[in-house]
Amino acid sequence: MEKMISVWSEIEHAINQKRDRPFVIQQRQGVSGGCINSAFRLSDGAATYFVKLNQPERLEMFVAEAEGLLELENAPGLRSPRPIASGAGTTHSWLVLENIPFGGTGDMAKFGSQLAAMHRITADRFGWQRSNTIGSTPQLNDYHHNWIDFWRECRLLPQLQWAAQGGCSRKMSRLGERLLQQLPQLLAHHCPQPSLLHGDLWSGNYAFSEQGEAVIFDPAVYYGDRETDIAMTELFGGFSRRFYDAYEEAWPLDSGYQQRKKLYNLYHLLNHFNMFGGGYGSQAEGVMEQLIAA
Ligand code: ADP
Repeated sequence: MEKMISVWSEIEHAINQKRDRPFVIQQRQGVSGGCINSAFRLSDGAATYFVKLNQPERLEMFVAEAEGLLELENAPGLRSPRPIASGAGTTHSWLVLENIPFGGTGDMAKFGSQLAAMHRITADRFGWQRSNTIGSTPQLNDYHHNWIDFWRECRLLPQLQWAAQGGCSRKMSRLGERLLQQLPQLLAHHCPQPSLLHGDLWSGNYAFSEQGEAVIFDPAVYYGDRETDIAMTELFGGFSRRFYDAYEEAWPLDSGYQQRKKLYNLYHLLNHFNMFGGGYGSQAEGVMEQLIAA
């Protein structure tokens, strides 16, 4: 108990460095819904903050998340939580964010066109200023001028290597090798721009604020093919038709997206296999077989 008290006083102290009026935690409420960290709302009756906790050695993950949220602030119209502070003590690392009350009625069509506007923010190469994490797995963002090289070196290859280290099937290793060789064909004639991406845009990582603004959070930011964000929205069930119609009206997807979608979501399937094991491995193998056959 004493140890937990010290993490809350560290956090209180860090929050107070960013405010004029003192903040003393009066209420602490656990928040469910996350996959990786434990989350809480802290309030003094007037101000409320959203806090994530993890083990002390995970501080870099939180620092990267805070930087990603700052990058997302450039997106016109879309909202993301403002990072307040991060740090680590002997028992925990932590990230303090602006608390955004969710629950309003939102407009999925507006969200779709706002995401297209965010994707219009581009860089001159693929990658980002730092590595971050996807779930709890490291995500490399080394700069590349060529998208195929980036997708191979920073996305599929590391996941396949981790799968091999974790003792994946020989079938998965063989399929992985063949798929990497075929990448130039699978992405032939596709010349994406390096767009600002959320990077982990499944339905658990957006919500509408009480005012009805679309809020995106828990990102794995980098600059890459915008289709990877759209593909991820489709991986676990999909967003509404209005979202996709509005996105395509603002910026149509290139032909061949349906095929590339599989290649892009393979990254997340492999990551889920590496994090959770189970049926994700055979799902990833099935997708690799389809892509190789194509
Ligand atoms: P994790 O990093 O563990 O996946 P999330 O970032 O997804 O955690 O946060 C867990 C849950 O907390 C989300 O599903 C969402 O409902 C809520 N949440 C996340 N960020 C905020 C925020 N800034 N303000 C209010 N609620 C938030």
